[in-house]
Amino acid sequence: MLLTPARVRELAASAGVRPTKTLGQNFVIDPGTVRKIVRQAEVSSGEQVVEIGPGLGSLTLGLLEAGADVVAVEIDPVLARLLPATVAQQAPGWQAGEDVVLDSDGRVRLRVVTADALDVDTLPGPPSTALVANLPYNVAVPVLLTFLERFTSWRRGLVMVQSEVADRLVAAPGSRVYGVPSVKTAWYAQARRTATVGPRVFWPVPNVDSALVRLDRRDPPPTSATRVQVFATVDAAFAQRRKMLRSALATLAGSGEAAAEALTAAGLDPTDRGERVDVAGLARLAERLPPVEHLPPLGSRASHGRGEPGTVAP
Ligand code: SAM
Repeated sequence: MLLTPARVRELAASAGVRPTKTLGQNFVIDPGTVRKIVRQAEVSSGEQVVEIGPGLGSLTLGLLEAGADVVAVEIDPVLARLLPATVAQQAPGWQAGEDVVLDSDGRVRLRVVTADALDVDTLPGPPSTALVANLPYNVAVPVLLTFLERFTSWRRGLVMVQSEVADRLVAAPGSRVYGVPSVKTAWYAQARRTATVGPRVFWPVPNVDSALVRLDRRDPPPTSATRVQVFATVDAAFAQRRKMLRSALATLAGSGEAAAEALTAAGLDPTDRGERVDVAGLARLAERLPPVEHLPPLGSRASHGRGEPGTVAP
C-alpha cells in the first residue's frame, strides 16, 4: 500500500503539486521510515488515529496498512482533495468519496478535514486514541500543544519533527535547550526522543536532520493553579532566559519583592533561572502569583509563537 519515491513524484506531478516551504511540505518517500513511525506509535488494528498534515499520504497509508482508521487534518486544499483518491488507488477494492475512504466492507477508514490544525476544535468520527504525524516543521510546537490541549482522548503520540525541536520537546531542567516547549509538553505528557531520521527519506530533501518523539500522556502535576496560570508563569519565566526568576517574574507578581516572596513560598530560589525549574515547581509558583487574565487563546500564533526560532522549516 505504501508510496515509493517514484509514486510520490508521480502523484505530485499529476496533481501539479509543488512542495512549499511555508507549509513545511517535505514528504516522506521511504516506506521503511513510515513503518518505523507506525511501529513506534504502537498503532493497533481498529484504532482511531489522528494525523496532522497527511500531505500526499505517505504516513496515512502506513497507518491504514496497520489496520488503523484515520482522521487527517490538512491545510492545503489541493493535497486534502487528492488524498482519498490516492488511498483508493493504493488499496484495491476501497472507495473514495469527497472527504472519506471506505474499505471493501463499506467501513469508513479515512476522514479528511481541510483546515489549519491550529483552528480545529472538533474532529469527525470516533475519538482518536493516538496521534501520529510528520508535523509541518514551521508550526510543529504550536500544533502539538494545541492537539494535546484540545483533544484529550489520545493517550499515545508519535511525531516526527526537526531534530533540534525534538531536543527541546524532551529536554529536562538544567539542559541548555530546556524552555517553554519542554515545560508545556511536560504538563501533558512524558516525551522521549526515540530515533534520528536523516534528510534523504524526504522529498524535497531538507537541510537538517529530523527525529521521532514518542509522547505518553500523564496527569499534570497536582496544583490549585489553572493550566492558563501555569503557562503564563512559564512564558514569563523564560521570556528573558538570562534573567533571574526574581526579575523575570516581577511584572507578573507586581514587583521584584513580590516575585521573590512567591518564589521562596514555592520552595524555589529567587536567584535561579527558569531553565532549572521543572513543571511541578512552576505550577507551585503559579499558585502564589496573582491570577492572570486576558491571555490569548491556546494555539493562537501569539501564545505559542508560530515560526519561533528553532521551529523554522528545514
Ligand atoms: N505526512 C506527510 C508525509 O509524511 O509525507 C506530509 C508531511 S509534511 C512535513 C507536513 C504537512 O502538513 C504538509 O502536507 C502540509 O501541507 C501540512 N500542513 C502545514 N501546515 C499545516 C497546518 N497548520 N495544519 C494542517 N496541516 C498543515
